[in-house]
Formats: sequence, C-alpha cells, structure tokens
Amino acid sequence: MALKRVSIFGATGSIGQNTLDLIGRDPERFQVDTLTGGHQVDHLAEDAKKYGARMVVTAYDDHYQALKSALSDTDIQVGAGASAMKEAASRPVDMVMSAIVGAAGLEPGLTAMNAGADLLLANKESMVAAGALTRTTAQKNNVALLPVDSEHSGVFQALQGERRDTIERVILTASGGAFRDYTLEEMQSVTPEQACDHPTWAMGQRITVDSASMFNKALEVIEAKELFDLAPEQIEVLVHRQSLVHALVEFQDAGIIAHVGPHDMRHAIGYALYGGNRANLPLERLDFTKIARLDFAAPDLKKYPSVDLAYQVMRAGGLMGAAFNAAKEKALDAFLARQIGFLQMSEVVKSVIDTLSVTDHGFEDALNLEHILGMDALGRDMAERVCATQK
Ligand code: NAD
Ligand code: MG
Repeated sequence: MALKRVSIFGATGSIGQNTLDLIGRDPERFQVDTLTGGHQVDHLAEDAKKYGARMVVTAYDDHYQALKSALSDTDIQVGAGASAMKEAASRPVDMVMSAIVGAAGLEPGLTAMNAGADLLLANKESMVAAGALTRTTAQKNNVALLPVDSEHSGVFQALQGERRDTIERVILTASGGAFRDYTLEEMQSVTPEQACDHPTWAMGQRITVDSASMFNKALEVIEAKELFDLAPEQIEVLVHRQSLVHALVEFQDAGIIAHVGPHDMRHAIGYALYGGNRANLPLERLDFTKIARLDFAAPDLKKYPSVDLAYQVMRAGGLMGAAFNAAKEKALDAFLARQIGFLQMSEVVKSVIDTLSVTDHGFEDALNLEHILGMDALGRDMAERVCATQK
C-alpha cells in the first residue's frame, strides 16, 4: 500500500486532533503533509514536529513570527495568512481533511480538490453555502468527496451497494443538545457557558452551541440534501438522546438501514481516511445489554425553530444557503458576545432569510464562487445590523 499524503486544515480543532490521532497510529499508511490552524500557534508547532509535517500554516498573518520561531530548529516550511493558506491547499497530496469551522473552510476545500486531492469533509458549512459548487468541483476533478459528519457518514455507509433512486427518506438524529430537558421559558435566559455543555459529544465550541440551538441539525439537513441529492421532503430529523443511532435510510421496500456506533468522531473520520473502507479502529465497542433503551422523538419546533428554517432555505435554493450560514455565524458570534439572547439567534437568521426571500439577489448562480462569497458577505452584514437592533 503506497503511503498516502494527508493535509489537515483546522488541525488544532476537535476534528483535526481526532484525525491526527488516527494518522499517528498508522504511519505505514499515512504521511502528514501540511497542518493549518489559527491562534493556537504553539499547539500547531508541536503537532507539526510530532507528526513530521512538511508545511505548517496559521491563518493569521500576525502569528507568523511566533510560528516561525517555534519551528526554528526544524526544516518545516512555515506560512501565515490567506496566500499561505491557498498555497498549502494547492500542494499535491492524496487527501485533505477539511476541518476548519465556518465558511472559512470553503475555499481551501475547493482549492484542494482543484489540485487533485480527495476531500474528507467535516466542514459542513461548505455544503450549506456552496453545495452545488462543491459537488461539481469534485466531479470535474474526478476526486472523492467523503462525508465526515457522523450522520452523513452513517447515510453514506447505509447507501453502499444501494440504488439512489430506491431511497424513500433519510432520517438524521440529533441529541437535542444542552437544553433538551429545558422548557421554552427556561431557554430564554441561558448563557453561552450553559450552551457549551454537550450531553453526549465532545466537539468544538461553535458546533456545541449550534447543537444546543439545533442550528447544527439545520445545517446538516441541507448538507444531506446536497451530498445525497435528496428532495427536502425526503429528509427528517429525530431527537435521539443516546446519540448511538446516527442516521437511518428508508428504502422503497420499507426496509430501513440504521447506522449505529459509539459517539466517537474517529469512526466517521476513519471511514473517510481509509477511502470508504473499514479499518480496525481503536474505539469502544457498544454493549447492547448495557444500553437497554434507545429513545426517539420529533423535535419541538418551538424550542428549535432553526430546523424549520433549513426547509425554508432548501425551498428557496440558489444562494440562500450561503446567506443562511453567514447569518447563523454572525448570530452565534453575537450570542457568544452576550449581545443577543439564545432564542434570538433564530429570530435574527429568520429575519435575514425572510428579507432575502422577497428580493432577487442572483439566486440563479449557485456555481459561481464570487456570487457565493458576495451572498455570504451580505448575509453577515444584514445579520449584524439585525443583531444591533435586538434588545
Ligand atoms: P474547532 O473549533 O474545534 O476547530 C476549528 C479549527 O479551525 C481550528 O483548528 C481553528 O484554528 C481553525 N479555524 C477557525 N477559524 C478559522 C479561520 N477563520 N481560518 C482558518 N482556520 C480557522 O471545530 P471542530 O469542532 O473541530 O469542527 C470543525 C468542523 O467540523 C466544523 O465545520 C464542524 O461543524 C464540523 N464537525 C465537527 C464535529 C465534531 O465532532 N467536532 C462533528 C461533525 C462536524
Ligand atoms: Mg453531525
């Protein structure tokens, strides 16, 4: 087996670290090429040494000196800022893990596919903001686009050997997040600290808060539509407290294939890293005699209006996903900065997409990166203005 060269974008994050953990366990198969990160320069430098990276890049220009001096005793190439990120994404490698959080992950992923790398996609925002462009970029370059989100990996696995036109519906499960046992009234006054406490999964801060609001599931519904070419009505969401059944696919003959596994992202990461093959992964094995029960319930849309917004976005199509994701990112910033309340995040995002639904902003061109980035900027700008008017 030839050595696979792998770059990790967002290496210091939760997905990045889990990816490095698996790569480090199989040095005969994987060679780390490039690691990128943001502010955690020392952590990035340490991992670059530990995993023998060839290049390391921080997304921020002003961290260049710190990164350079942390690696002064090595011959690892060091870069900082947007042009270095682009250069890093253009390197000839076999695969790139797209694990930056937010729309900032979109361009590195596209660049990597254009340079011929398979894309392991954790960055769901790429599919929400630019699903059609991401998919066609993979096709055009004849590279694989492999889902890393656990639900989507579950769907992808359930679809192996199946005909796509026999799918009746796809069900994505959600833990319900930090406030699943709160009433709507109780949710009104929750703090960022409370929202950062996830009942089942250990993840980055932003996705953890998005899980509490179920904006994460809203993004994932759109991601599923784009990845598997589904109609909005074919996708459903179920709250499942145990987070052990990740996704279910129902076929025309009423058979359902469910994907079940421990809540450890290394399962989905491993499936993608090994190119859709099963490797012997160092994960906990489930004991069904101890699990005893699995609960499922429809989400309470009063508590989680974000889920409804996903369907509005899918029906609008075009560039609405880019506006939706951007507005969500801004509303999340405002909540984390205590500028708006938890439930106001959905109100802000709804206000942005309602406004954009009645005007025409070039929805026809979802394959054009400039238009996507333009809509992303507009969505951010509008959300910021709406946040400023909230009390
Ligand atoms: P995280 O916050 O732990 O890490 C994010 C990484 O992105 C860090 O390395 C950070 O330095 C980098 N980064 C942040 N902003 C950046 C910017 N503007 N430019 C360049 N780099 C930047 O996030 P995470 O939980 O690992 O999630 C990463 C992605 O994977 C997200 O899109 C998330 O939705 C998705 N995802 C995560 C999980 C999970 O279990 N953590 C599960 C499914 C999907
Ligand atoms: Mg997920």
